[in-house]
Amino acid sequence: MKVIIKKASYDYETLRPLVFDMMNSLGGDLIENHSRVIIKPNLLVQAKPEQAVLTHPSIVRAVAEYVLERGAHPHICDSPGMGSFDRLIRESGFRDALKGLDVTCRPFKNSTHMDIGEPFGRIEMAEEAVNADFIINLPKFKTHSQMLLTLGVKNLFGCVVGFRKAEWHLRTGVNRDLFACLLVQIHQALKPFMTIMDGILAMEGDGPGKGGTPKKLGLLLASNNALALDVTACRLLGLRPDQLPTNQAAREMGLLDLHFKVQGNVERIVDFKLPESASLISGPRPLHGFVRRQLLQRPVPDDSLCTLCGECWKFCPAGAIQETSGNLKFDYDKCIRCYCCIEVCPQGALRARETLPGRLVQKLIRRF
Ligand code: SF4
Ligand code: SF4
Repeated sequence: MKVIIKKASYDYETLRPLVFDMMNSLGGDLIENHSRVIIKPNLLVQAKPEQAVLTHPSIVRAVAEYVLERGAHPHICDSPGMGSFDRLIRESGFRDALKGLDVTCRPFKNSTHMDIGEPFGRIEMAEEAVNADFIINLPKFKTHSQMLLTLGVKNLFGCVVGFRKAEWHLRTGVNRDLFACLLVQIHQALKPFMTIMDGILAMEGDGPGKGGTPKKLGLLLASNNALALDVTACRLLGLRPDQLPTNQAAREMGLLDLHFKVQGNVERIVDFKLPESASLISGPRPLHGFVRRQLLQRPVPDDSLCTLCGECWKFCPAGAIQETSGNLKFDYDKCIRCYCCIEVCPQGALRARETLPGRLVQKLIRRF
């Protein structure tokens, strides 16, 4: 198990050989002629590369080229939160970046059952991912209002097809630890062959959608274990590994190995803004349940940006959003604080905002 960290940019002349070196170093030569290879970038929602929402198209191209050179046919797949996959590929720069390559680019469609272990049991996952010989996981280094950061392990949640994702948000509800447990078990079941994380233009603040702020880090991280990669990302940010809920869940399952080889020496990242909601939930543990249910930040629309496109209310797993007389109305009793609406809003019109009691409790947490 090892992690590689390198300084990088999107200049393709230097990026391509760097990606090839990383893949060679992580055992990429195991890919051969008839290997079924799935490349799983973050293709959440239509967005320009400079918005830092999606894995950069140049990284996807370099990985696809590597797979082609090994003689295999790459399938680039994800299950976006909303909108047309073809439009996302066209308007987010992937069609141009992949021009001339013999690749298949399509959304996950069919599901099959896969046992990921208790308490979830057999869950529906993308058939192509379950049957792949190699999954190459390409997450974006981003903040996440519910899960603090979305890194290697969380990126595989995209292998749950379409609205099944929303169902799982609903089933795990406001229980962030249970959701983290689900994510880790999906990772363990799919076992990605390697994970290469785009931290060249990362995202800070109110991620993971367009409400977040692009942050240039100039880093490419790779590993044959996404948990080790996530631990390394936390350390780079000066966080304890267990501050990331998925790492904590992995630790409780006995899966977190903190002793692995890191190749590459980069300085600690300073001035990286984490989402505010995540800091609220990191108070004393006995308060967590109450905080989650009653005091977590709620999604609030900016009416000047909202176009009433309907994506948020179509996606909301709890049916907590309605449009009445030209305004969005949130039912905060129903809302499970999954922040999917913030994630899928194409206008960046939704933000997680604290409640008054939430602010008071946060002050108390800080004091004690
Ligand atoms: S908040 Fe965003 S997703 Fe929801 S209706 Fe408005 S623009 Fe569309
Ligand atoms: S309103 Fe937004 S945060 Fe609340 S349940 Fe619906 S999608 Fe999740």
